[in-house]
Amino acid sequence: MTDGKSHESNFKDNGDMHEKDNEETRVKDSGEARDDKRAIKRAKRKERLKTFFWKALFATKRAVYPEDVTCDCCGEELTAKTRYRLCGECTSKLPIIPEHICLVCGTPILDEADYCNRCQQNEYKFLRNRAPLVYDGIAKDMVYKLKFGGKKYIASTLGAMMTDEFLKRNMQADIAVYIPMTYDEEKKRGFNQSELLAREVGERLNMPVLPALIKTRDTAAQKQLTRKEREENLKGVFACVFDEVKGRKMLLIDDVFTTGATANACASALIKGGAREVSVLTAAVTKLKIPVESNDGTAEI
Ligand SMILES: [Zn+2]
Ligand SMILES: [Zn+2]
Repeated sequence: MTDGKSHESNFKDNGDMHEKDNEETRVKDSGEARDDKRAIKRAKRKERLKTFFWKALFATKRAVYPEDVTCDCCGEELTAKTRYRLCGECTSKLPIIPEHICLVCGTPILDEADYCNRCQQNEYKFLRNRAPLVYDGIAKDMVYKLKFGGKKYIASTLGAMMTDEFLKRNMQADIAVYIPMTYDEEKKRGFNQSELLAREVGERLNMPVLPALIKTRDTAAQKQLTRKEREENLKGVFACVFDEVKGRKMLLIDDVFTTGATANACASALIKGGAREVSVLTAAVTKLKIPVESNDGTAEI
């Protein structure tokens, strides 16, 4: 993506963002159609407000905080301008993703293979995932502080790294979207970290960010589940509610890529909504600890 402006104008040319007819047909087959419709209305109402809010916020940030002063990770004062808001020591500890990665999921591969064991056995609805960091060491700390420590400013540093990765890997996309939370989940945390990352990336690439996906129900924590269980857990959870995805190359943004089950469920909803293709960009990707031996998902990490 080199011409940010054309993305912006294409996006606008795509027409009215609030077409009622399609909104009606999209979810009428669902058993929870009424809930979905309410969520769609809420998403659309929020969209315009959010775009305005984020534009104003970034403009204010640029005007009021021209200097970055402390390291996002350790809090050390930064004496010189750095590419990311990190001190030299934290930068040297970053678990940067190696050059040789799985062509699909982006996890590091130690041998010469093009695909990791997991991707040799599974098919995904998205084309690829790319991440600047391995989910380890201080990358893990940063994501944790962002998600659970409420340190929202870390999204700026991770978003800058993700943007560099997007450009370095020659990724292409028209519109950025993020993994949604339910209303209750977002209310509980106070923000959606995937959205914060998407806004940072969108701002840097001059790419529109669209809340095209909604999450229709809360899901159990997925950490301890196998890939198969995660897929089951996520069935019918995500829906695409914006027509603007039709024929577009979408960039799906999340904090961590683990098994790919969440990204896959969201990519599936976007494709169903008419997206041409979906690429995924995350701040970090987990390492495959053990080879995936079986097809039934039981050996999946
Ligand atoms: Zn530091
Ligand atoms: Zn892979």
